[in-house]
Amino acid sequence: MSYQEIIEELFTSVKQEKNIGSLATFIPELGNVDPGKFGIHLTQVDGLSYGIGDHEERFSIQSIIKVPSLALAYKLMGESLWTRLGYEPSGNPFNSLVQLENDHGIPKNPLINSGALVISDVLISKLNNPHEDFLEFVRKAAGNPSISYSPRIAESEKSASYRNTALCNFIKSFGNIRNNPEEVLDFYFNQCSIELSCRELSEAFFFLANYGLAPPDNDRMMTVSQVKRINAIMQTCGFYDESGEFAFKVGLPGKSGVGGGIVAIHPGQYSIAVWSPILNKKGNSYRGVKFLEQFTTRTELSIF
Ligand code: GLU
Repeated sequence: MSYQEIIEELFTSVKQEKNIGSLATFIPELGNVDPGKFGIHLTQVDGLSYGIGDHEERFSIQSIIKVPSLALAYKLMGESLWTRLGYEPSGNPFNSLVQLENDHGIPKNPLINSGALVISDVLISKLNNPHEDFLEFVRKAAGNPSISYSPRIAESEKSASYRNTALCNFIKSFGNIRNNPEEVLDFYFNQCSIELSCRELSEAFFFLANYGLAPPDNDRMMTVSQVKRINAIMQTCGFYDESGEFAFKVGLPGKSGVGGGIVAIHPGQYSIAVWSPILNKKGNSYRGVKFLEQFTTRTELSIF
């Protein structure tokens, strides 16, 4: 069976089952999304691509952007990046404050909020025009000049940013945020506000499946070794405190966001994005996890 036939069949069966969980209402704009949305898009490294359902509709990718942010910071800083944060799974919720006290403001990894705030701080220090230069990096990775921030979603997040503000100030108190916390938070909210369709998201992560080369001209985004490490971090830290379960069930590196998106990659094979906004208790898309678990089971292809 082809990928296309398997995707079609699983899409239909997962859609018929009950969708269990809730929308991420802690960001007011995310509570306004139609909970029944469901889309999937797969982009193969050989250029073939296939999508189904709401795969062309843009949604808020939220924390999925933490991966491109990490990629750019790693490219700019090299190994010295790891003096500012770690690469161990946290085993705690994405917006947790508890570990930071013991770890003296050094976040466990770049894919939780504390880590992403430090990454934002690094990018502000390193880039001439952080907002513009970061967008340029994402556009180049995706081969898509239309990607932009959403002021509507950024503002909505800012209006309820008590926890992220606490995190940023707390890290600052340990000296691991070098810039003004307000500037760091503003940049972070803008990154999280980006909206992409499943097609665009799978294209934006294509370079991680393709050993660092991005479409359409095979531009090198980063070294093969750096890609290996980013994929390893996605595998161990990409799904909040459900990363172990995702590795167990799906067996692919990936990242989720509270907008209900999940992107996963199979090195040398494909990048796949799924969107369904109802989240399970750990904050991952209920249908997204279900679909991907069945997809790697049916194709008998995972990294393991
Ligand atoms: N913008 C969200 C926050 O900082 C991202 C959460 C997520 O998708 O994990 O709370």
